[in-house]
Amino acid sequence: ATPTSIMVGTGKGAEHGVLFKGGAQLESLQHVDAVVFDKTGTLTVGRPVVVKTFGQEEALDFAAALEKKSEHPLAHAITEERDVVFDIDRFTVDAGRGVSGVIVGRDVIVGSARMMRERNLPLPDWSAAGATFVYVAVDQEIKAGYAIRDELKPTTKQVIQELQQTKAVYLLTGDRQEVADQLAVELGIPQDHVFADVLPVEKADHVKALQATGRRVAMVGDGINDAPALATADVGIALGSGTDVALEAADVTLLGHDLQQVVTAVRLSEQTMKNIR
Ligand code: ADP
Ligand code: MG
Repeated sequence: ATPTSIMVGTGKGAEHGVLFKGGAQLESLQHVDAVVFDKTGTLTVGRPVVVKTFGQEEALDFAAALEKKSEHPLAHAITEERDVVFDIDRFTVDAGRGVSGVIVGRDVIVGSARMMRERNLPLPDWSAAGATFVYVAVDQEIKAGYAIRDELKPTTKQVIQELQQTKAVYLLTGDRQEVADQLAVELGIPQDHVFADVLPVEKADHVKALQATGRRVAMVGDGINDAPALATADVGIALGSGTDVALEAADVTLLGHDLQQVVTAVRLSEQTMKNIR
């Protein structure tokens, strides 16, 4: 590629809020044949809302107080549902699982089904189809829960369909299988392209596994949890609204929240290389 065509390509990108780290990144994007999307904050708006609560009020109060210390989007949904203050001891974040702490001498855990299962806490069979579930355990017993929903971004469906004309699209999420499967059906992503219940440290492993099958992989994500996967991918694409860590790990940064920019980035790469040949 000539320096001039690359400068033109990166310049056009910048005009559209698509920032390539450099010429090499602009070049490599055209070779990508698989695009992996993180769910929360990438395909979805990332402003989840509590649609239903289950169980004990006291436990819900504890959970709301505890989540004030977390910056996770789900924590935001929970603190929006109610505003409660308690002194908290021994607060811990368990990445991709949830949070825990001690409130008025009681052990409180707020997190995913996986987190509860790993602690051998039997799950109640509350249901709300397609919703993300967050459970609240007090003194080693699940006492309450939240059904939480996060809307798709307006362009998500269209972008997935456009990309699927030339590339394989995958969904990668820490959320539970049922939520991921339902979303995949809605978006037209094949069931065997869905990786759910994935811990932050495992996200990069899924990218590696795809690469091992011969795929050239672009990973699109926003969260702090996505940084290792972004760095592992052949091309890491970070949403500019995301965390600093994600941005540092990225080859391409999209300013704004519009997924259509992923398509723009791919097209720019293809066009730049065409001009060279
Ligand atoms: P995603 O991959 O969809 O961005 P994360 O890896 O951030 O999701 O989180 C995975 C799961 O862990 C969430 O769906 C949720 O069940 C649980 N979780 C993570 N952080 C919290 C928190 N602060 N409070 C409650 N649950 C949490
Ligand atoms: Mg995310």
